[in-house]
Amino acid sequence: MSKDIYDLTIIGAGPTGLFGAFYAGLRSLKTKIIEALPEPGGQLAVLYPEKMIYDVPGFPHVMARDLVRELVEQTKRFDPTYIFEQSVSSLRRETYKGEEYWVLNTDSEEHWTKAILISAGIGAFTPNTLPVTGISEFDGRGVFHFVQDRRPFRHKKVLIVGGGDTAIDWALNLNQWADQITLIHRRSGFRAHESSLAELRETDIEMLTHFELETVEGTDTVERALISSNKEDDRRSIDVDIVLLSLGFKASLGPMLEWGLNLADQRHIQVDGLMQTNLPGIYAAGDIAAVEGSEPLSLIVTGFGQAAIAANAAHTYINPESKLFPGHSSELRL
Ligand SMILES: Cc1cc2nc3c(=O)[nH]c(=O)nc-3n(C[C@H](O)[C@H](O)[C@H](O)COP(=O)(O)OP(=O)(O)OC[C@H]3O[C@@H](n4cnc5c(N)ncnc54)[C@H](O)[C@@H]3O)c2cc1C
Repeated sequence: MSKDIYDLTIIGAGPTGLFGAFYAGLRSLKTKIIEALPEPGGQLAVLYPEKMIYDVPGFPHVMARDLVRELVEQTKRFDPTYIFEQSVSSLRRETYKGEEYWVLNTDSEEHWTKAILISAGIGAFTPNTLPVTGISEFDGRGVFHFVQDRRPFRHKKVLIVGGGDTAIDWALNLNQWADQITLIHRRSGFRAHESSLAELRETDIEMLTHFELETVEGTDTVERALISSNKEDDRRSIDVDIVLLSLGFKASLGPMLEWGLNLADQRHIQVDGLMQTNLPGIYAAGDIAAVEGSEPLSLIVTGFGQAAIAANAAHTYINPESKLFPGHSSELRL
């Protein structure tokens, strides 16, 4: 059976990877994008989907979630292949019919490709969770680790667990949507901006400090949560439809550090001015890249520029006779 070999495979569907997929498409590269999460957007989708961004050119302001939607829309002109919920764990060089390729491995598949763009940001995301009965049973059926969409929260009774900025921001953000919000935190003080806390105190959201989640209960969906104080003899069963665990995310570069790439430090892959790593045909861009002689500037706009450079450089790697400059998109017939 012949192999389905891609020109460029992009690791990570954050803003850098998405724009890289667009640019690769503009250069007619057969492109695949592999993302560990079930959805695109990287940090924008996971950490601040409903926040406004003010420093994306051409948008005086844009909500993170909307920017992701438009970036995905922009890639569709060239129809790249999206693979979600697969984390790339290793890669190797293989020869097939006399040509050399990279083979990327995930838990479930192998992906063959001529070139790679690593746009893995701060690493593959996994949400922090609690070893509490009911959490895994009701995952996606009333237990959430992050908010992709506010709509499921409309007219619901919500318990938010967490004491950081994200927990407070979500409590404020969902206040107009949910019928009732209870916020519990296991410590005495919330670790959030004072201005957000002041705003929260103006609402009727119940804030309970020194409280921890013991169990989540229900039949088909979540119906109750048992919470208890770690300071006093106070144990309560509260009626809830949704438990939102806002305990932060672990982002780990994990196995990527073992791929033989030159690293600038434990969080950045060293690249040259064309975003090329030390390995042939492998490029890196966005938050994960450190350009030699410069300092990483972890911004969306930096990732966009670097993704365009990397996709064009990958084109010249795959087609050595081609030019780096792609021509102007305004002059192309698309
Ligand atoms: C709260 C907050 C607010 C911000 N506000 C702004 C702002 O206003 N303006 C601005 O310019 N920047 C802002 N930033 C920074 C901006 O979000 C980042 O610079 C940007 O997300 C980097 O994009 P990226 O695509 O390089 O990486 P990421 O967004 O981190 O995306 C990387 C993706 O790769 C995936 N991935 C990683 N490893 C693997 C693997 N092995 N296999 C498969 N998938 C993998 C991850 O799951 C992730 O989805 C903000 C950041 C935060 C946290």
